[in-house]
Amino acid sequence: MINVFLLLGSNLGNRNLFLHRAISRIGQEIAPIKQTSPVYETQSWGKTDLPDYLNQVILLQTVLSAQKVLEKILAIEIELGRKREEKWGSRTIDIDILFYGDEIIKDVNLTVPHPQLHNRRFTLEPLGMIAPNLVHPVLNKTILELKNNLNDDLTVKKV
Ligand code: AMP
Repeated sequence: MINVFLLLGSNLGNRNLFLHRAISRIGQEIAPIKQTSPVYETQSWGKTDLPDYLNQVILLQTVLSAQKVLEKILAIEIELGRKREEKWGSRTIDIDILFYGDEIIKDVNLTVPHPQLHNRRFTLEPLGMIAPNLVHPVLNKTILELKNNLNDDLTVKKV
């Protein structure tokens, strides 16, 4: 079994409901959810004039390959109404793979660990609540260390 950490984000419509529905579909389609972080409300990253996001990190354990997990999360995003229009545009649900065990993946369509996770407070705050001592396999730092070294001023608060 591989530990997989996913980041969920929603900034359109009933954001809480989209998080719940995504978690429920991930549990059915990929693997039972082992842990969920608190939900954080965060200023939109990249385009700060967009509505605020709700973000949450979840942990699951699966036997599926990373590519299969990606395929399934993309299908769940579409099912929950995500429209890919503009980069960093609003979305009902966005699901990213943060870690797939301690594997380092550099496929054309998949980079793991997620290449931006160490730069984003909205990722490190919820991740730090469930896995503070997890070591980033590329940067060789714990989530807590990454969080303490962070240079990201966007407001991120626990809901
Ligand atoms: P976005 O929804 O804007 O985050 O971009 C999604 C696309 O990024 C997907 O179609 C994936 O092929 C690609 N991608 C690359 N690395 C990752 C990752 N670690 N998690 C999720 N999507 C990824």
